[in-house]
Amino acid sequence: MNSLTASIESDDSIAIIDMDDPDLVDESDKPFDDETDEYKSMPQPAKPLKPTKIGYGCVEDMPAQHIRLFAPWIFDPSFRVIEMYQNIISESQIELIIKALKIKDEYEKVKNYFYTVVDILGTDQVAQRVMKRFLEVSPNAAEIKHKIFFARPDILEEAFNVYWDKLLHHPTFDNIIDRICLSMPVEPILEYLKISPEAAYRGVYEKLKYYVEPDTMKNLSLAHKFFVDWKVRCQVLFELITAKPRKHKAEHWYYEFLKACNSSSATRPVAFVLEKDFRDILDKYEIEISQLSKPVHKSTADFVDPSEAPTEPRPQKLFGKYPSYITHEYSANYELRSYQKELTKKANEGLNTIICAPTGSGKTHVAADIIAHHLRKLQHSDKIGRVVMFVPTIPLVNQQSSHLSTNLRPEFYVEKLSGAERATEKGDIRKAATLLKADVVVLTPQIFINMLLSPLRSQKIYLTDFTMFVFDECHHCNEQHPYNVLMNFVRESQYKPQIVGLTASVGDGSDSKSRMNPDNAMEHMVAICARLNADTVTSIRDPDNLIEMQHHVSKPIDEIVTCRPSPNDKFAHEIALTCDYIQDEIHDVLMTLVTDILDFEENLIKLPVIGPNDKNGTSKTSFSYNGKLGALKHNINKRDMDRERRHFLLKAIELLEICHFTLKNNQLMPAKLAFEYLRERIGYAEKFGAYEGGEQGSNTKIGNYMQRLRKMINNIKAKYEKLDAYVKESNSKPIYSKLLSCIEEQFKIDKTSRIIVFVESRKGCVKMAECVTATETIAKTFGSQAVGYIVSVNQSMANFGQTSVTQDRTLKEFRQGHKNILFATSVAEEGLDVAQCNLIIKYNSVGSEKSYIQRRGRARAKNSRSILLAISSYIASHEYNNIMREYLMNICLNNLQTLSETELKKMIFRKKEEIKTALEQERRIENERNRATTLYNLECVICGILICCSNQVARLMESQFICCNPSAWKDTKINQRFDKNFSVKVSSLCGVWLCQCGQKRGEVIKYGEAYLPTLAADGFRLRKQPSNVLEENNKFTWQVVTKKFFPVGSIELEQIRGMINSLSENNIAAYKDAQINEELGICEAVKNLEYEKKQNHALIETY
Ligand SMILES: [Zn+2]
Repeated sequence: MNSLTASIESDDSIAIIDMDDPDLVDESDKPFDDETDEYKSMPQPAKPLKPTKIGYGCVEDMPAQHIRLFAPWIFDPSFRVIEMYQNIISESQIELIIKALKIKDEYEKVKNYFYTVVDILGTDQVAQRVMKRFLEVSPNAAEIKHKIFFARPDILEEAFNVYWDKLLHHPTFDNIIDRICLSMPVEPILEYLKISPEAAYRGVYEKLKYYVEPDTMKNLSLAHKFFVDWKVRCQVLFELITAKPRKHKAEHWYYEFLKACNSSSATRPVAFVLEKDFRDILDKYEIEISQLSKPVHKSTADFVDPSEAPTEPRPQKLFGKYPSYITHEYSANYELRSYQKELTKKANEGLNTIICAPTGSGKTHVAADIIAHHLRKLQHSDKIGRVVMFVPTIPLVNQQSSHLSTNLRPEFYVEKLSGAERATEKGDIRKAATLLKADVVVLTPQIFINMLLSPLRSQKIYLTDFTMFVFDECHHCNEQHPYNVLMNFVRESQYKPQIVGLTASVGDGSDSKSRMNPDNAMEHMVAICARLNADTVTSIRDPDNLIEMQHHVSKPIDEIVTCRPSPNDKFAHEIALTCDYIQDEIHDVLMTLVTDILDFEENLIKLPVIGPNDKNGTSKTSFSYNGKLGALKHNINKRDMDRERRHFLLKAIELLEICHFTLKNNQLMPAKLAFEYLRERIGYAEKFGAYEGGEQGSNTKIGNYMQRLRKMINNIKAKYEKLDAYVKESNSKPIYSKLLSCIEEQFKIDKTSRIIVFVESRKGCVKMAECVTATETIAKTFGSQAVGYIVSVNQSMANFGQTSVTQDRTLKEFRQGHKNILFATSVAEEGLDVAQCNLIIKYNSVGSEKSYIQRRGRARAKNSRSILLAISSYIASHEYNNIMREYLMNICLNNLQTLSETELKKMIFRKKEEIKTALEQERRIENERNRATTLYNLECVICGILICCSNQVARLMESQFICCNPSAWKDTKINQRFDKNFSVKVSSLCGVWLCQCGQKRGEVIKYGEAYLPTLAADGFRLRKQPSNVLEENNKFTWQVVTKKFFPVGSIELEQIRGMINSLSENNIAAYKDAQINEELGICEAVKNLEYEKKQNHALIETY
């Protein structure tokens, strides 16, 4: 009993969210680590089995928590509850009720009553007995009896299942209903329901609207008001759960509830407690809802006729009008520098070329000029021109199209298509006409390929519609990249558009494993040229232009300084000892996990300890230590175990994490900041929140655990004095001293210097800026106003974010020289307009090769320098590699260009021939195979149902095997699936295709307009026709199948046509699911792109 009372916050007011609960800590500040993916894929514990029937046939089936949902009716104090339940509940409980009701203070009274009631209804057995009596005798019972059983027809199956899953068996809290019923504000929920488009949800509002009417609560006593509140909270829940939506699915009540909670800051914590990532969940729900209301899109198939393929670009005017701001007047929005003119020269002569120029040299202007020049030239000779710029990612679509539009309007019309557009109310803009009415389009290659292949007139574009291809970031063009797939179409076509590639770093073709090597790098560059059908490489060669370019994109000196932490750091050593102590203290409990939980491996609990020579805490700062803690925490969170033990372990791990981050901070900053951090975090950690009450009872399980935690925390706090004594000595950090001396040195060179220091985390950024400001020498040399910082504007202030006004002001001050030193996180790297600066310092912060170039690209002032300060050789060597790669690329560029034009052409030509031959070879083999004739039936490997015949299988993009039998969709299901690292590929993935028996048949992909089912080789068995003999082979791979049994040819237009509407015609439910999955996949891809961006600058919770 005790544990239950304790589990409800005894705190006043809104106690729904226990901010101290380790489960609820915002993860965004936590570092990424190497082991994240590994522990994500570990097996999850099984949930308790779902009941076979819906709702409760009798009271004996009801769990206590469900009964507590009706507690305010059962224990309505306006009835004689004591008499009613006298023989049902124990005497001591009766006493508790009497005691609670006697309390004078109204507020105390109701709170106590609530806890007492919840306590009484704490176990299934007692709760059921009470419920039985309630139903028999209470005058209240009739009113809600039909709701209590939650049985059909009062509730729908899916609605009940969600209730069962999400409330009764919430993964973290087993008292979620009590939490909601105690303190959730109801007004926002009702306000939300009031305007729901779904009548059933509006009905819930109608039933409860008395509650929000002004008179209802006016004259009630505090105690009475509490009861009304309590009742209404419960009622909102069970009315929603039993609502009978018509437009929505039954289970949607839960998402509507989340949405309602999210509609106000007062109720948002409820959503957060229910689902940590409720925002993601709601995003996905929105997609589902919008798809549900969307009519089935029928391709009533205005199919293209192959004979009508145009041989030259179709004029824009056939596809729509230009926007009014396009006047075709000559635009001169930009002026090219003379080195930029050199870069445009070959392309403007009509050559296919790859332009290599450093970041910051203005390649966008170069591209705009080449495009304008190209279009004007065609116009002069009365020809139609149309340019497409390909970019590798969705964010770049927006960025580049707006650049081009700014530079080319009002003369030329620029359009974009990223693939992230949803087919919205305004109709599908993913149409060929959107592209074809424009002069310039910016898009990702996969959309272009899909449209090239579309059999539908509304979607169809032709290579011949485009006179120039511009490939942005063209170094991506390796064999598998969509750029190359696209170029294969050009290779196999008679029609050849002009091609221009743009890149800042061609790369050297090596990966992290292979060694860098100039020969490989040359080969790599030649191969990219060949794949893109370029004949030449363009870079700046004119000596005057080089000087000019260097003036604009000055090349700073690169320096790497390794500043190892001192080998003896008493402060750090003491913290590391504390880690060992905590690890020791919890070891016995960790061991119980290994013995109690079947697949809880012992190595999960093996945490490293400090060695004999380790006197500076490094054993506890490593990625692997961080990862171990993460994996352990994750497993404790997900495994089935008693709540007390889980809470204890999570709290203890939180303490270890605090030590870990304290040590990390201590490596980079004066120890006083790390100490500050430690005290702040321990201060939060020692609030046990929900468990506070349990601490006193040492004879209870939770009490015992809480006392052990208390002991550990006290142990840490007892060290404060000692630590404080060490701080002074540990304040000096080699890396920090070096930072200060770098700044001072720079000041000696130039008193007006601008310096940017890149730091990994927002917190670190803010704290470092504060700390440096407070440094005497800095204040003396630059003045106390000289230091500023810029961090993400997307974060709240509490998360060390910044408003955009503040950020703009800081940047302005920096530009104008009122501030000289700017601390920045990666936001500054991603295109903020940072003024010319003389010194870039990367403070133990690594990035990719590209980010290396970009960060350095910020150092634009003449003679500017870029310095990396690193505490380990790992970071230093990573950066060194980046430098080498760029250096190598420049050597190659020089080498390539000292070759005579003809020689280079020859090399590229040879490579082109190689690629062409390989492609032809592939096609030939394919055709030969197609002539074989034995037929097989493909049957489901489990249930034996016929999927299709071997001649209905076709190959798409070389590696996808498509089932071209429209009726194969029947009775199948499509389940959501996309990889965590999913990025929009040539064809997008729309789910897993499942047989009627549940066996996976393959995947569903979207190709142009058509949903196509792919076949996994292990999903079917083969029956030879006409003999009907089953092939004995249960280890099919497609390689085996196509070699031994039947060949598979490339998919033909007719086959795509046959499949195009087949899903919606044969299986409407699956069609909807495929649509939803497709949208979710795109969402995921966009998110991944952003995540990738973030991950490159791994955020670490350093100070
Ligand atoms: Zn089957």
